Amino acid sequence: MNIQKINLVGLDKETMSKLLQPFCENGQVIKMRVSQLWDWIYTKGETDFNKMTNISKNFRNILVNNFLLNRLKIRKKLISEDGTKKYLLALDDGNLIETVFIPEKDRGTLCISSQVGCTLNCSFCFTGTQGLVRNLSGPEIVQQIMILRDDLQEWEKIRESKNKRRSISNIVLMGMGEPLYNFDEIKKGLMIIMDETGISISRKKITLSTSGVVPKIGLVGKEIGCLLAISFHATTDEVRNQLVPLNKKWNIDCLLNALRSYPGLSNSERITFEYVMIDNVNDTEEDARRLVKLISGIPSKINLIPFNPWPGSHYKTSGFDRINSFAEIIKSAGYSSPVRTPRGKDILAACGQLRSDSKKIKKSQRNV
Ligand code: SAH
Ligand code: SF4
Repeated sequence: MNIQKINLVGLDKETMSKLLQPFCENGQVIKMRVSQLWDWIYTKGETDFNKMTNISKNFRNILVNNFLLNRLKIRKKLISEDGTKKYLLALDDGNLIETVFIPEKDRGTLCISSQVGCTLNCSFCFTGTQGLVRNLSGPEIVQQIMILRDDLQEWEKIRESKNKRRSISNIVLMGMGEPLYNFDEIKKGLMIIMDETGISISRKKITLSTSGVVPKIGLVGKEIGCLLAISFHATTDEVRNQLVPLNKKWNIDCLLNALRSYPGLSNSERITFEYVMIDNVNDTEEDARRLVKLISGIPSKINLIPFNPWPGSHYKTSGFDRINSFAEIIKSAGYSSPVRTPRGKDILAACGQLRSDSKKIKKSQRNV
């Protein structure tokens, strides 16, 4: 008989317990097995049940016969001159997503995806041109980190010392998709990522970015507890309607009100406002002054992101001088306003571009 084996990687304790129930004598044994498996999977990165030495040979056979320890597959990997690594990852159903690793001097940030594509078609975003294929599951969120830990040989470091500096110290949900349109699965994944007996990355090292799904924003603070970033990008409803069409549903006023009552907001846990700098669209000094006024009273930082051009887009990146004078106004109002250095420019850095590029290649191959 051919048994359909179930992949355990990315599963929470409750789900794993249910799956192990038929093979364990009682609840206590299930609990012990789950805790052993979690340790092997999430802190040791083991991919072979037979190497799980503290589990009896008998039970290892049960595991081998019924379960898998799979990750997402790396379909393509591009390494930029500046060290940024961009991965095209294949899901079990063949869909493709992007995950980007950005190494910095004192930390390493992994930018993960939350959906295949996105329903929201922000006019400056390449992912937005692709439509939504589907939501990612909680395990697929976790597996993006698992496969990157494999590829960056992170497990050895973690095994040697829990405190040793890891390659992946921070996670940002700024890849493909809108995380707050996939809240339940994102939460499931993040719970394993934040769990000290799981992937163990602290909630303060994780940032979820949303384009402004107002009814779900409070839940990020209440039910997940990670940091929050808002894709703001404009200071009038007229311009924001064009850039982030979701603004027509929840406008600037409504968004800012939700942020003012955000649970847990404090100076040590400020909200990041992301602001893409687009030439002649949202980059005047008047915009900068309006931005400062709008967010006054909200503990925040502003992250200025030079627009990353992609083929077919009619927008251009703001000039150096424009960005500087914008940043100056924000700084003199007392906000930190780092300008994000574009990373991985030589490897199709605009989000969604790698996936789309690969789809085009596949199509043309099929036509040969
Ligand atoms: N959907 C969520 C998270 C993914 S987008 C959101 O919109 O917040 C992550 C960030 O990348 C957002 O701030 C988005 O505005 C920005 N971004 C998208 N396309 C970009 C481009 N071409 N150049 C610069 N930043 C871009
Ligand atoms: Fe979706 Fe974010 Fe891109 Fe807008 S910016 S289309 S919400 S991924």
